[in-house]
Amino acid sequence: DVVLSATGLGLRIGGATIIDDVSLAVPRGELLGVIGPNGAGKTTLFNLLSGVARPTAGRVHLAGRDVTSSSVDARARAGLGRTFQTSNLFVGLTVRENVRLAAQAARGGAVSLLRFPRRQDAATVDALARLEQVGLAHHAETLAGGLSHGDKRKLEIAMLLAAGPEVILLDEPMAGVGSADVPGLVEVIRSLQREHGATVLLVEHHMDVVLDLSDRLAVMHHGSLLACADPETVMADPTVQSAYLGESA
Ligand code: ADP
Ligand code: MG
Ligand code: MG
Repeated sequence: DVVLSATGLGLRIGGATIIDDVSLAVPRGELLGVIGPNGAGKTTLFNLLSGVARPTAGRVHLAGRDVTSSSVDARARAGLGRTFQTSNLFVGLTVRENVRLAAQAARGGAVSLLRFPRRQDAATVDALARLEQVGLAHHAETLAGGLSHGDKRKLEIAMLLAAGPEVILLDEPMAGVGSADVPGLVEVIRSLQREHGATVLLVEHHMDVVLDLSDRLAVMHHGSLLACADPETVMADPTVQSAYLGESA
């Protein structure tokens, strides 16, 4: 049961090939690690899958529908959510207010206000449930700007969950996170898959984190998909090892 797929996906910008003929099928419930050296095209692949950018070749299917020409919002309503490499929180609002806004936006996009006259209460209830889910309930009244990097990432995941996504794209969630916060964040990501049944695509440079979490690994290099298989097979692949030569980090 494939929930997200790319078929012959390509992106050319001004004569440069950024993404080259990427085909990928992600089964429902899988946690797929996406790795590759810096500049390999991982974020761009997420942009094409989520609708932030449109491919110049190939198709994207989400839950059986061709969404290649659908907007970011349409894909979000169809169950796709993503985080970005850089944080986008309202730092002057509390943690609860940030999630409540995300919950309201999600409801506003999906349901009629007339059917939910008390939607603000529902949004608050949603917000607190999402904060429980990522272990941030104790910080509900903290200003988002005052959180540690690790807790900011948890907050971004809580905001993402407010839209009830089936497929979640996480772009370097460990970036800038102190080592003490890494294990907690790993458990939050694991719970998205294990407890909430989400399908997760995870771009991450921390190799130990990726290997710990992933069912399969996709390796990007120079815009192409070098390999996509179980982690043991991928890490033993000489093509993959040579792609990383000269890369530190
Ligand atoms: P990664 O996330 O794997 O580090 P990116 O997807 O950010 O890689 O970038 C892949 C390559 O595509 C990089 O060389 C980057 O400079 C280039 N690139 C990405 N977006 C654009 C764009 N809009 N215009 C030109 N080049 C781009
Ligand atoms: Mg990069
Ligand atoms: Mg990137």
